[in-house]
Amino acid sequence: MTTSQDSKIVKTSLPLTFTVVGAGLGGVAAAIGLTLAGHKVTVLEQAIELGEVGAGIQIPPNSSIILDQFGVKEAIAKVSTLPEKLRFFNWKGTKTLSTQDLYPYTVEKYGGEYFHIHRADFHRILVTRARELGVEIILGCHIDKVDFETNTCYTPDGRSFTSDVVIAADGLKSKIRSLILNKDDPAHDTGDLAYRALIKVSEMRKYKELKFIYEKPNITFFWGPDIHIVIYLLQGGETCNVVVLSPDTLPAGVNVQNALDTELPEMFKDWDPRLKSLWALVHETSKWRLQNSREMDTWVHDTANIALMGDACHATLPYLAQGAAQAVEDAACLTGLFGRIQKKSQIHATLQKFEELRKARTTRVVQGSTNCRNVYHCHDGPEQVKRDALCALNPPQEGCPNPWADPVFQKFLFGYDAFAEAESGWAELTAVSPSL
Ligand SMILES: Cc1cc2nc3c(=O)[nH]c(=O)nc-3n(C[C@H](O)[C@H](O)[C@H](O)COP(=O)(O)OP(=O)(O)OC[C@H]3O[C@@H](n4cnc5c(N)ncnc54)[C@H](O)[C@@H]3O)c2cc1C
Repeated sequence: MTTSQDSKIVKTSLPLTFTVVGAGLGGVAAAIGLTLAGHKVTVLEQAIELGEVGAGIQIPPNSSIILDQFGVKEAIAKVSTLPEKLRFFNWKGTKTLSTQDLYPYTVEKYGGEYFHIHRADFHRILVTRARELGVEIILGCHIDKVDFETNTCYTPDGRSFTSDVVIAADGLKSKIRSLILNKDDPAHDTGDLAYRALIKVSEMRKYKELKFIYEKPNITFFWGPDIHIVIYLLQGGETCNVVVLSPDTLPAGVNVQNALDTELPEMFKDWDPRLKSLWALVHETSKWRLQNSREMDTWVHDTANIALMGDACHATLPYLAQGAAQAVEDAACLTGLFGRIQKKSQIHATLQKFEELRKARTTRVVQGSTNCRNVYHCHDGPEQVKRDALCALNPPQEGCPNPWADPVFQKFLFGYDAFAEAESGWAELTAVSPSL
């Protein structure tokens, strides 16, 4: 494992107070970074207990290099798996369409690991680090009102929290997004849903035909008509994470539902026959409606020192596995900018600079993820033949349907340095507005 010798985090001479609304992966990461940059951070979380629902999550190198700076990479590495490759099969399992090396490739090329981790482990490690740094996380604290004159967040039972800066990391259904927009902005259905299941690898080992999954830690995709499957190992290879992304069949108004035992075997009856054994091992699975929000004109309130981050302003389909990674990048960018702040009069412009530095990149990731659906879910026919031919080009070219093998997109995704962006962004800000 690589660990950073040099800290890229600059510590401010002007400690400010921050309220972070939402203790998800993004909010807690921001709390860690801003505290390391010298600020006093309080996190307000509506849930009574902390935790992350769901199963596995991928931490790509653009995120792991930041998590190293935040002092959590070693703890993450202890409970993670390092996938060697990404590989893409056609739905019949007869053809490997594309591959991409991950370990040690991303360490050698981009300086960071590609980890697989259980969400609960990832969140626990971030929360432990935040608390160790002195971040106060207040639970059972739902924010439903904000006074933009005084930078104060309110709960329905009358508690109030005033600070120099408010960072809203309150997720896809962000209340603060609606308050900033001054209108309801509900999440919309994307037309897809995700089945998520965990399987014990000790049980899987009884099936020789599933050796292609458990023998090595890889990420395996099957691309098929309207559906794709993502399979990877977690927790030192002892747990297998399976996600099926398929058209939304949930009843109106129901966002999560347990799936029947028969659903997956029925859905995949004509796919690669090895998958039959996989579904036999899924004892319990639920399906989650995939929702999204629309791009906002701005993430920062007109006058108040309040900004959005993470899924609150750039939620995405999970098809590039970058949602949380983009929230961690936001956290690093805020850390880099606010580590350099010298005067309170700079706060609002600093939040605007944060948005300017981050918005185009997150939009490209969101659009890229949406585009993956068309690529992954092709029906057999001329489009699929063209896709597979592009995948087969060696070496892969720009526009490769496997986005991680596309050399241009890969560099864009993995080669991003949020701390360097913040450093140059700060230099621009103070050069353009020296009187701030
Ligand atoms: C199936 C699936 C697979 C995915 N896989 C990956 C992956 O492999 N890699 C990756 O990087 N990303 C992945 N993602 C995306 C990732 O999960 C999200 O982008 C990420 O968790 C967003 O973090 P967040 O902190 O911005 O928001 P959230 O995790 O939604 O956290 C928001 C927090 O705010 C709290 N909150 C909300 N409203 C209020 C309020 N009014 N007051 C107080 N608290 C409030 C909530 O309770 C919650 O704790 C995946 C997503 C899905 C659905």
